[in-house]
Amino acid sequence: MKIGFYPGSFDPITYGHIDIITRGAKLFDKLIIAISVNPNKETVFSTEERIKLVKETLKDVDNVEVIYSDKLTVNHCIELGATHILRGLRAVTDYDYEFQMTNFNRQISDKVDTVFLMTRGKYSFLSSSSVRELADFKGDVSPFVPENVKKAIDKKYGIKPNTK
Ligand code: ADP
Repeated sequence: MKIGFYPGSFDPITYGHIDIITRGAKLFDKLIIAISVNPNKETVFSTEERIKLVKETLKDVDNVEVIYSDKLTVNHCIELGATHILRGLRAVTDYDYEFQMTNFNRQISDKVDTVFLMTRGKYSFLSSSSVRELADFKGDVSPFVPENVKKAIDKKYGIKPNTK
């Protein structure tokens, strides 16, 4: 059984992540989505909220499993039998960080390799942080996230439904 491991903060999950997950799920028998729990990184949504939103969003994709991870990615992959880390690539700006992480991970163990899927053009400027920034200004996030995530964002940021 070929197992992939897609780690990230998913704070919150966006259409960009969903695109990588649905395409990535076709490459593996099982794709584990690992929601990172990083004590040094503050998130707007709690671990439980992020997991709930990801699970709800992906309920129709049968070969994905959603877990949280407070472990080193490579170690967690080995523990779960995952052979590949999946990552999404947007602009060149992602490349530097991903290049460094991939080589760092390889130094820890060469049992686990990293594969990248290039984002679709329409999602190349989409990130969780830009969605959070838009929400800060009470903007409409619906072009960027599914309905369940939009509802959770509106609630968290006190955004009232548009009554125009
Ligand atoms: P991290 O804090 O680990 O970067 P994110 O949740 O921001 O966590 O991202 C997880 C993964 O999803 C990363 O590989 C990131 O490049 C990818 N990703 C995020 N947004 C997009 C997008 N719009 N298109 C493609 N990949 C994306």
